[in-house]
Amino acid sequence: MSALSILQNVFGYKNFRDKQEEIIGHLLAGRSAFVLMPTGGGKSLCYQIPALLMDGVAIVISPLIALMQDQVATLNEVGVSSLYIASNLDAAQIQQAFSQIRQQQIKLVYITPERMCSTWFLRFLENIKITLFAIDEAHCVSHWGHDFRPEYQKLNLLNKVFPHIPRIALTATADSFTKVDIKHFLGLKEAPEFISSFLRENIIYIAQEKQDAKKQLLEFLLKHKHSSGIIYCNSRAKVDELTNFLQQNNHQARAYHAGLDVKIRETNHYYFLQNNNVIMVATVAFGLGIDKPDVRYVYHFDMPRSLDLFYQESGRAGRDGMPAYSIISYGFKEILDLNRMILDAEAEDLKKKYELTKLKKMVQYCDTVVCRAQLLLDFMGEKTHKCGKCDNCVTQPELIDSTVLVQKVLSTIYKVGQRFTTAHIIDILRGKNSLNVQIWEHHKLSTFGLCSEMNARNLRRIIRMLYSNGLIDIDFIIGHLKLNDKSLPILRGIQDVHLPKARIEYKRLLKDEVIWLRTESDDKLYRDILIWRHNLALKYQVSQHAILPDKTIYELVVTKPQDTNKLQDIYGIGKNRLQRFGHELISLIIKQG
Ligand code: ADP
Ligand code: ZN
Repeated sequence: MSALSILQNVFGYKNFRDKQEEIIGHLLAGRSAFVLMPTGGGKSLCYQIPALLMDGVAIVISPLIALMQDQVATLNEVGVSSLYIASNLDAAQIQQAFSQIRQQQIKLVYITPERMCSTWFLRFLENIKITLFAIDEAHCVSHWGHDFRPEYQKLNLLNKVFPHIPRIALTATADSFTKVDIKHFLGLKEAPEFISSFLRENIIYIAQEKQDAKKQLLEFLLKHKHSSGIIYCNSRAKVDELTNFLQQNNHQARAYHAGLDVKIRETNHYYFLQNNNVIMVATVAFGLGIDKPDVRYVYHFDMPRSLDLFYQESGRAGRDGMPAYSIISYGFKEILDLNRMILDAEAEDLKKKYELTKLKKMVQYCDTVVCRAQLLLDFMGEKTHKCGKCDNCVTQPELIDSTVLVQKVLSTIYKVGQRFTTAHIIDILRGKNSLNVQIWEHHKLSTFGLCSEMNARNLRRIIRMLYSNGLIDIDFIIGHLKLNDKSLPILRGIQDVHLPKARIEYKRLLKDEVIWLRTESDDKLYRDILIWRHNLALKYQVSQHAILPDKTIYELVVTKPQDTNKLQDIYGIGKNRLQRFGHELISLIIKQG
């Protein structure tokens, strides 16, 4: 059997993606590799296919039980015998697993790093033929990342104990520091790197300025009632509050954060995985191990601390390759809060500076007028074409000459000695006789009341954009606005400023729940297949996508194959699914006629 025939017959996919084939060939030749591929890029097949082609058992190291369970269930569904070994198995279950492995019934074993490095497991392996080691989520080895797991560093024994067995380290997140750690601890200094493009073609990026944030969220959700999504908030309290709010508004929302009891967290996670229309409201704690392919949107209700985090979190949308939204709702207040949080934290100055720079990029992403996908990748060091789908691509923001207005703002900042906050600057510009204005006699300034026709929100927006465009600085500890090199040419009238008009047309951008075709009979067929899948998932106690991916259902509804021969051409239908479900699917389709 060739790699391609396994891809087609076992997994039901037509072609390899990007670097998959190259990586597989490399492992088959007995060499080690380092793979950097975005979430949803298809890392698992890179080691699963060689595992099937080689004689022996592959060991996959993975940090989380939930992740392993899901992978094993999906593999067994397509007819690849695999199992996992983790702390939730008792001694008898482990003995049974061992005996299956000894009898060569198993092609892939998933295991946690702790158990991998334990003496009893190493001893067991002495008499086992191992094909390869795959180290999934390899960035956990590095303390630079946000998922550091000390146990991962012990994996350096792999290189020493099994020097001749190929190792493949895989991750979706590795800056240069993390990369060095991975190579060091996993003994991969000599191994070549396989780096895929990080562009997620199916994600539609949108950034929305906060006006009435909850109302904006409800408007979005109203149009996505039949989809699963994740909403990220920056604090546990906010997660709880928003979950309640959504439940009161008849949404199926569940909460996830580190302050919740483990049982509740797990129940909520499971409920989210099993269903197609649940909203998970979560903090960053909901991260690693979310292997749900049909997440239709990731909604950042608050701004993340960095663009890397944003990329990881938004990347949880649309892993099945179907269109999905990444929405961020942002405002000035959270920019100030986040900056202050970083400054107040106990950390070295150098680290703070590093974090502030990362946050600044996040802010720039929000306020940009260019293609968001392009900017996001540019920040990650990759050049790409315009995505054609983000809000800025779909409707070019209208830029208006704001030079005079900006001059008024800058000159007020200058006149008060660069020692006052945004609120105070706005009071002066709007001609508001606040206590502070009176105390400092700022009503005597020539700019007092020059923007009396503008509301405070719009002025705050302008000041935010001046900051994100680098035209002013902010002393975040006390909130004072400061001029910089770039402010001066504008103040002197040497340079013009064009700022984008506030968007009001989000509704149009967010119009469609992901492209389900929707003639009445299509709709009926779609729902019939969903119910059928739901029942099977319950029967076999696996997730719904292990039975059949969403994209498969989509293709079934669009193409309506009438016999099992035609079924083979459908995405995700390999020999095993064809044999097990083929007839039932055809009869569902024919019934709809
Ligand atoms: P990652 O681990 O990189 O986040 P996965 O390995 O879970 O991604 O793959 C994401 C999805 O893409 C899975 O549903 C997987 O079966 C599917 N997939 C992987 N490779 C291909 C391919 N060559 N063609 C079609 N689908 C693929
Ligand atoms: Zn774009």
